[in-house]
Amino acid sequence: TYIVNDNCIACKYTDCVEVCPVDCFYEGENMLVIHPDECIDCGVCEPECPADAIRPDTEPDTEKWVEFNRKYSEMW
Ligand code: SF4
Repeated sequence: TYIVNDNCIACKYTDCVEVCPVDCFYEGENMLVIHPDECIDCGVCEPECPADAIRPDTEPDTEKWVEFNRKYSEMW
C-alpha cells in the first residue's frame, strides 16, 4: 500500500485524488489519507504529489503512517 505522511498537512493540491483509479483517498483531520486495504499499489499518485507526501509502505519507518492512514480513512 501507499501512505500519506505529514508533508500533506495543509496542502491544497488534490491531484492525487483525481488520478487514483480506485478512489481510496479520504479526508483526514488536516490532511488526506489512503485506505490501506483499498489501495491497489498502482503508484500513479506518488509523482502527482507536489509535497512528496505519498510514499510506498516498503520504505523504513512507515508502519505508524499505515496505522494513521487506516484510522482516518475508516472514519468514513
Ligand atoms: Fe490510489 Fe494507486 Fe495511489 Fe494506491 S497507489 S492510493 S491505488 S493511486
